[in-house]
Amino acid sequence: MDTILEVKNLKKYFDTPGGKLHAVDDVSFTIERGKTLGVVGESGCGKSTMGRVIVHLLEATDGKIFFEGNDITRVNSAELKKLRNDMQMIFQDPYSSLDPRMTVRDLIGEPLKTHKIFKNKEDYEKRVSELMETVGLAERVGLQYPHELDGGRRQRIGIARALALEPKVIVCDEPVSALDVSIQAQILNLLMDLQDNQGLTYIFVTHDLSVVKHISDDILVMYLGQMVEKCPSKELFENNKHPYTKALLSAIPIPAVDVERKHEILKGEISSPINPKPGCRFAPRCPYATEKCHSQSPELREIKPGHFVACHMVTE
Ligand code: SF4
Repeated sequence: MDTILEVKNLKKYFDTPGGKLHAVDDVSFTIERGKTLGVVGESGCGKSTMGRVIVHLLEATDGKIFFEGNDITRVNSAELKKLRNDMQMIFQDPYSSLDPRMTVRDLIGEPLKTHKIFKNKEDYEKRVSELMETVGLAERVGLQYPHELDGGRRQRIGIARALALEPKVIVCDEPVSALDVSIQAQILNLLMDLQDNQGLTYIFVTHDLSVVKHISDDILVMYLGQMVEKCPSKELFENNKHPYTKALLSAIPIPAVDVERKHEILKGEISSPINPKPGCRFAPRCPYATEKCHSQSPELREIKPGHFVACHMVTE
């Protein structure tokens, strides 16, 4: 086992006029080097915030983050610079993070210049060309601007920028959500090829379970800032236990006309993540909720090796 990243009891709270918003609440997991952890949940469940805390775009409220065995929860500016090389992020909408006045080559070369990691002009141009080739961008688009390209190519620029510093871990935040289905498959295949060739470790954040099915080794399901289920990807699709996971899975369309599946529509109010009350946060929407669920928070328990669930109803 070669654990590259460990997150222990991570919390991220925000102050709001109504009280503390518990965006990430006591999340713990480990990732082995070269593997992918899919993180899924509805919009607002805290999955993107967690990714941003891990790469230090946001500061943790509490808990610990270890990278290659070192505590990186609080870092000084020199340590943060080093961490930026090791951990990168790919965003959902690369367009908004790309300067529209810069050409593709300039955008891809920008991290190299910021971190001064090239020997001379010739080395810089060679590195930019290599990065373009790695992500499947033709040389001819090098002098074009982001608005002249489709979403898939713009995401390739985002991936090339993330790869420029040769990171070990990449947090992919909904990287294919804004793309057409055919382009989604191309970008997912590119990410998987890069992982095979460069031994990258991914945290893949998405609201769409079908997207992470083939790319993830493990999947972590989040609901209102908390982990509700985590296990290997195959186990999640074949032997899922948490009522929320079941509802998420039932929403995935099946591409066959002769297969019927009941889509569980979640009813009930989503409870507030601001100063959350004791009890299961899913209780107002859970068809199996009992009195206990409304008063006692379920603990995350390992029901079999590697399979964790937080639900009073699930015992094995
Ligand atoms: Fe539903 Fe209760 Fe389980 Fe929460 S603890 S998911 S409310 S059965």
